[in-house]
Amino acid sequence: MAPRDQVLSDSMRLREAGIRPTKPRMGVMRAIREGGRRHLSPDSLHRELADTGIRMSLATVYNTLKQFADAGLLRRVGVGDRTWFCTNTSEHHHFFDEVTGRIEDVLGDQPRVIDLPPPPLGMSILGVDVVIRVRRTG
Ligand SMILES: [Zn+2]
Repeated sequence: MAPRDQVLSDSMRLREAGIRPTKPRMGVMRAIREGGRRHLSPDSLHRELADTGIRMSLATVYNTLKQFADAGLLRRVGVGDRTWFCTNTSEHHHFFDEVTGRIEDVLGDQPRVIDLPPPPLGMSILGVDVVIRVRRTG
């Protein structure tokens, strides 16, 4: 896709998600698209943006990621007290390396969770996120 078409496409994706395509949001969309599949933290994206000359406060980066996740443009992944924003929005689970703190997608067949308990009264289950904790052997 030509760069101009990609900008148009980013703008359309934002509008379809109900988000006004401001310049900072377009910058974040471009960074997400150009960086490929990965798991972003506000800090890591803030650094990426700074490296490409986009100056944005950490709070704005965080709020933008949160807004994109709420709109379904990113997937929120929480492990312990940390949250990542996954650029892969398809249904998938994650491996988490307890030593390095690195998180990655489970590729291919996804684990199946069966025999879930009934949800608390008046609640319905929206989904199950599996985090498989790993550590390098040897
Ligand atoms: Zn992921």
